[in-house]
Amino acid sequence: MTETTPNHTQTVKGWAARDSSGKITPFVFKRRRNGAEDVTIKILYCGMCHTDLHNARNDWGLTTYPVVPGHEITGVVINVGNNATEFKLGDKVGVGCLAASCLKCEMCQANEENYCDDIQLTYGGIYWDGSITYGGYSTMIVSHKRFVVKMPENLPLDAAAPLLCAGITMFSPMKQNGMLDQPGKRLGIVGLGGLGHIGVKLGKAFGLHVTVISTSSSKEDEARRRLGADDFIISTNIDQMEAARKSLDFILDTVSAQHPLGPLLELLKVGGTLVLVGVAEKPLPLPSFPLLFGRRKVVGSLIGGMKETQEMMDLCGKHNITCDIETVKPEGINEAMERLAKNDVRYRFVIDIASSSSNGVL
Ligand code: NAP
Ligand code: ZN
Repeated sequence: MTETTPNHTQTVKGWAARDSSGKITPFVFKRRRNGAEDVTIKILYCGMCHTDLHNARNDWGLTTYPVVPGHEITGVVINVGNNATEFKLGDKVGVGCLAASCLKCEMCQANEENYCDDIQLTYGGIYWDGSITYGGYSTMIVSHKRFVVKMPENLPLDAAAPLLCAGITMFSPMKQNGMLDQPGKRLGIVGLGGLGHIGVKLGKAFGLHVTVISTSSSKEDEARRRLGADDFIISTNIDQMEAARKSLDFILDTVSAQHPLGPLLELLKVGGTLVLVGVAEKPLPLPSFPLLFGRRKVVGSLIGGMKETQEMMDLCGKHNITCDIETVKPEGINEAMERLAKNDVRYRFVIDIASSSSNGVL
């Protein structure tokens, strides 16, 4: 569709999946000219979220190919529209999961664009001009200023890139569920991957007692010593799960696959809340008994609004919070995807886009 949109005149080098094999290959495409409210960004780094893998392989049956994944984008501003004077050339900026929203509805007015009915995602969405959006596995992006985040000067653009999705996805439910100003409350993080590891760091920054609930005993030492987790439970160990029964106030469940919710709900105190952020391919069965007998709640959460994303980014700057990353070159995306599928990443792959020897615009 972009090819037929008249103002799509900028040729960009990217990497796309063409079918449900998920294999990523080079893909040259067009982006729109920089509009009055737009900012053009030379992409330097892009994190590899598990959502990219779900989409590349069409796990949810929603993918339109070719798909250029990537919504943890950092880079520098190389063009600024006349009405985007909040930004200037050379600014370090980030783009997350959102490309557009209606800007008029109740949710947009409340700075919760992420819950707008007309939300359009950074890739696989349909922009206001009718073009399909392509994400950050590419050398350059044109973004509406509302959806651009200013990066703190002290944070490196590679290790901070995953904050644009993983960071805000953990921060928003913490804020919405009152975890930011209740030090000492007990938070459980289920799944120590890209989202989970940043959840541990944020939880510790807010003074929470953080327990990791994991399937991987090999992650315990790092979780405790490097990430600062207070406790570590193996979810398949019945004795450990039983010993932790009714010990947690909140749980953030980041698991990317089918898994039983009942044993996790049993970890919550009476009235506790489990926030589901992971997106399994199929619906998760929700057992009644642990809900009823503990007046427990299960809620969902989707990334965060732009104001909240900037707030999270500024807080990460203040507390010097970044992600633990493994940098890969674009040629290594497929190998990284394979390893992500096998849960073999500590804790986020970040693509070094600049190493692709292009200066953004072809
Ligand atoms: P990730 O890096 O692959 O981490 C997921 C973690 O889940 C793994 O490290 C693993 O942790 C655990 N896990 C994986 N398979 C499991 C299984 N079969 N049973 C139990 N645990 C399992 O993925 P991510 O990038 O953090 O993303 C996690 C999920 O969140 C994905 O589904 C993604 O699409 C979704 N997501 C949602 C939002 C949102 O707005 N709600 C935003 C971004 C991503 P252990 O080794 O510790 O067990
Ligand atoms: Zn993501």
